[in-house]
Amino acid sequence: MATPKKIKAIVTGVTRYDDTVIEYSFSPEGRMPAFKPGQFLHLAIDPYDPSQNWPESRVFSIANAPESGVIRIVISVKGKFTARMAAELIPGSTVWLKFPYGNFTFDHPDNQMVLVAGGTGISPYISFLEHCLADRQSPPVSLYYGIREERFMIFEPVLVQCKQSLPRFNYTVFCENPGHHIQGGVTGIIDAGRILAENPPDADFYLSGPPLMIDSIGRFLRDNGVSPGRIFIDEW
Ligand SMILES: Cc1cc2nc3c(=O)[nH]c(=O)nc-3n(C[C@H](O)[C@H](O)[C@H](O)COP(=O)(O)OP(=O)(O)OC[C@H]3O[C@@H](n4cnc5c(N)ncnc54)[C@H](O)[C@@H]3O)c2cc1C
Repeated sequence: MATPKKIKAIVTGVTRYDDTVIEYSFSPEGRMPAFKPGQFLHLAIDPYDPSQNWPESRVFSIANAPESGVIRIVISVKGKFTARMAAELIPGSTVWLKFPYGNFTFDHPDNQMVLVAGGTGISPYISFLEHCLADRQSPPVSLYYGIREERFMIFEPVLVQCKQSLPRFNYTVFCENPGHHIQGGVTGIIDAGRILAENPPDADFYLSGPPLMIDSIGRFLRDNGVSPGRIFIDEW
């Protein structure tokens, strides 16, 4: 794995989907460290002084392809640190980033891939899919994306572009809250039975999102004949 590097970066974009789901874009100062789709970074708000320890930070999945020259993340505001990000980070703010980390890296490119995302768990897949778009090809990929309401369908333009440009890509959106509906989507939570019915059990199954979703879908897959070695988890 590449050695993580510490870089200063400027906030270039802030999109608030509501008070608790926020997308940030950063422009790195200096050279962008290499990373693989699916990896994550440490983000510190307080300045880093190389003669001191790394400041308090939290980790976030990178939600863009390595080729794109910027860094994007999506956060759910949960505790004290993410509340501080929501209150303090505006365009022009400085942050410190340290990356790459993680091995949720889609390293079996010839296999059928089944990507299961709950909410902001979509981020590592967007990194991978943007990389496929840059490459103009992908393995067979089925994405299942669970959201609460249509306003949280964060990366729809990327998914639409993948559907148009990558012949072996398709996706299904599950919209949890009754009364909210995505055109072409399904009402309700992600249906593990449907995922298994639509894909061979020897596909590679990737799970990213809240621990409860990962536990229940992972258990269902294992109980229904998927080898544990074919289940890859990005656990937060
Ligand atoms: C691989 C990975 C990828 C992730 N990707 C994302 C993502 O893309 N988007 C997203 O929203 N979240 C992501 N998370 C979760 C994220 O890192 C935070 O844990 C989450 O946002 C919690 O919110 P908080 O830090 O505000 O909560 P807090 O209440 O501030 O802290 C939550 C936890 O952080 C730890 N902690 C507390 N104080 C400190 C400290 N001083 N230094 C270090 N750790 C401390 C404790 O374990 C605490 O329970 C990811 C986590 C992992 C492991």
